[in-house]
Order: sequence, then structure tokens, then C-alpha cells
Amino acid sequence: MRLYEGGCSCGRLGYHISNEPIFTQTCHCRLCQRQTALAFVVRTMIESSYFHVDSGEFICVHGQTGSGKGQKVYRCATCKEQIYSIFNDSDATTFLKTATFDEPELFPPQAHIFTKSKLSWVNLHGRIPFFEEYYNKEELVSEDSLARRKAIGW
Ligand SMILES: [Zn+2]
Ligand SMILES: [Zn+2]
Repeated sequence: MRLYEGGCSCGRLGYHISNEPIFTQTCHCRLCQRQTALAFVVRTMIESSYFHVDSGEFICVHGQTGSGKGQKVYRCATCKEQIYSIFNDSDATTFLKTATFDEPELFPPQAHIFTKSKLSWVNLHGRIPFFEEYYNKEELVSEDSLARRKAIGW
């Protein structure tokens, strides 16, 4: 099932996912700010088995993470835009950058993390919870989401 589609701006890279994502969050840490050249990144987590590449080729570059374990950042081989990351060498879980979906509005974050390094002009208010660092998934995440995370070791 082609549930949601996305790709890069040069148009060579295209993908779709075949299930609802598990969880969406923004990260305001300094590493994400530098790596994306943005105020924060929005990523959504899904089992890699539901992520399908339709066209194009990726290059993979190493990225630093706060944990020190690093991430594999997959970019369009032509325009070099970031599409997704694999963290901690955990290939079963894909973290898609939601801005690369055709309809990024469909994926509002469920948490803001590492707001201790949030830029001062980013005003967080409303219903989306925010955390100085990480959140406690047992408190925040739905039963279904927790079960899916457990199945992929996340
Ligand atoms: Zn981050
Ligand atoms: Zn591209």
C-alpha cells in the first residue's frame, strides 16, 4: 500500500511508506541544527520494512550524535539532500525527515526534544510537549507505538 510519498527536490529520489509512522519528533540539539542547517529537524520513526525506495540512489555519510554512537545519514546521490537516518546501526528502524514527504503537514511532531539548545526565537506553545533533553517513552507514547518500538528494539 502506498500510504505516503516523498522525495528530494531534484526529483530523482522517490520513496513511499506503507504504514503509519510510529512516532514523530523535532530535535533542537546543536548537532541537528548544524547537520540540517536549520533551527530544528523533524523526524518520524518507522520500521524499515515499511519504507520503500521507488527511484534514485542514495549516498550514505556518517553523522555525529549526542550519544556518540553516530548516525548513517542517507542523501540523494544527485542533489545530496538528506532523506533519512539510521541510528546506532539499528537497520530495522528508519528515521525519515518529514520535510521530504510530499505532504509534511500530515506529520506534526508529538514531542520537541533537546529544547535546552532551542533557538530563542522559536516559540513553543500549544499542545505539543517539549523536553529539555529526551522524553520518557513509557509516559508519552501510545501502547501501539510502544509495542512497535519494542519489536524493532527501539
Ligand atoms: Zn538532535
Ligand atoms: Zn535529489
